[in-house]
Amino acid sequence: MDRRAAREIKTVRAMIEIFCAGRHGRKTLCLDCAGLLRYAEKRLALCRWGVNKPACSECTIHCYKPEMRGKIREVMRYSGPRMTLRHPVLAALHFADKKRGAGQKRKLRR
Ligand SMILES: [Zn+2]
Repeated sequence: MDRRAAREIKTVRAMIEIFCAGRHGRKTLCLDCAGLLRYAEKRLALCRWGVNKPACSECTIHCYKPEMRGKIREVMRYSGPRMTLRHPVLAALHFADKKRGAGQKRKLRR
């Protein structure tokens, strides 16, 4: 796995942890959230963009199945604003990726 994908996993994990702690009152991930993380890891590992991968929220493919997509969106909505406080470096890098992804969209064709 390349470094960018590894970092994306770290970001997703941090976001799910914040979400689970805040919404489910857990110190370690509950079964549901652990399942979501495993799913996210698997999708990322199979992502067809490879090193050119845009941030998942900017991605044009939407490889998540609807149920998981709903869950991860909820996590992002809840944890996104909180990431800046808890994990400023990861958050900054994530938003940098987003910007880069937006620029790339025009160049990449499906
Ligand atoms: Zn949870």
